Amino acid sequence: MLKITIPNNNVAERNYILDVMFNEFLGLDFKVVENDDCQDWIIELQNKKIVTIKDTFFSKYPKAKEYLKLENIPSKMEELDIFAASFFMLTRWEEYVNKVRDKHNRFPATESLAYKQGFLDRPVVNEYVEMLKNMLLELDSNLKFKTRDSKLFISCDVDQPYDCTVENIQNLIRVGAGDIVKRKSIKEFAKRVRRYIFNKFENYKYDENYTFDWYMDVCEKAGIKATFYFVPTSKEPQNGCYELKNKKIQNLLKYIDSRGHEIGVHGSYQTYQDKEKAKLQKNMLDDTLSSLGISQKIVGNRQHYLRWDSSVTPSVLEYAGFLYDTTGSYADRPGFRYGVCYEFSMFDILNRKKLKLKQRPLIVMECSVIDKSYMGLGYTKEALQVMKDLKQKCFKYNGSFSLLWHNSHFKAKEDKKMFEEVVQC
Ligand SMILES: [Zn+2]
Repeated sequence: MLKITIPNNNVAERNYILDVMFNEFLGLDFKVVENDDCQDWIIELQNKKIVTIKDTFFSKYPKAKEYLKLENIPSKMEELDIFAASFFMLTRWEEYVNKVRDKHNRFPATESLAYKQGFLDRPVVNEYVEMLKNMLLELDSNLKFKTRDSKLFISCDVDQPYDCTVENIQNLIRVGAGDIVKRKSIKEFAKRVRRYIFNKFENYKYDENYTFDWYMDVCEKAGIKATFYFVPTSKEPQNGCYELKNKKIQNLLKYIDSRGHEIGVHGSYQTYQDKEKAKLQKNMLDDTLSSLGISQKIVGNRQHYLRWDSSVTPSVLEYAGFLYDTTGSYADRPGFRYGVCYEFSMFDILNRKKLKLKQRPLIVMECSVIDKSYMGLGYTKEALQVMKDLKQKCFKYNGSFSLLWHNSHFKAKEDKKMFEEVVQC
């Protein structure tokens, strides 16, 4: 067992980051000793050899939560020791002290140090873990580390399972009038009417949103099961276009389950800071599954629009009863928001507490790369290369590459091609 001696300040924060790095990432047993005279992180191995890592951050702010200030964001990661740097990335306290937000109240990638310093496309925490591993191996070549296998997680946020403009006759009349008057296209109108009729009988062959069969086929061919995150209720604005009580949604849930794929919660627009609402929504989906005789249990979540507040959302989701969340990417840029491609326990920065909730960082959301409102690379070689490179970087560390592709984002034939290439590469 290793013995790690730390200065007697920021003890909860230090214990958390040591636990994640040594225990969760490296698989090493250790005990922590606090010492008033200690100035640095002192790691003592079983063979009594010692590594000292200079403490460059926490001791400067000895009072609880004193470090949580905008001016304490480093100008370069090199200013921080590897533990403070990893803590900075994994807890995202940067997003709490920097209050800049976009129109959906999200912290934009472009405000992050990782983006500004050009390392959002690098899993820096994985790099620190490798450094630490090599340092320890130098001193004790008998050390045994945790082994892992690369994993591919494919997931789908079910915002619009089918074309919502043909959901009911009122929508059809309203949007159909637009086809004729605004878009001057009788053909579009005729297609919409056909879709309306076929969808009524749950035959979705004319609906470009309803891609679930094909989606699961592609994943199964690659030997994986996908996860489908459903919005439990869309009563409030900015959400999906369905309710769990809809018969066709229930049929879809049963179908996904019968093929062995996972079902999770897509926390509605209004839940990311509201623990009661988040819990209610998880319970709604739980109850729906059990009433349908589906035996799988809800364990995972992703927030709609990737809305996230690093100071409260982790504890909101823990309270709601999730085991993991996989919101962890920026909407406006793909890459390593948390600097890591391993799943890890989250930390409640305000209550200074390690949570049971795991974060499974999302690395690529398709629209972050493709859509004009974000990176805007479209269906180019460059776009494909961005996704492939990120996947390769995850696999280099035997980590997990988590890809989000919406069922409703297969309208261009290039979508399907790009999706298949990223899944298969
Ligand atoms: Zn969504």
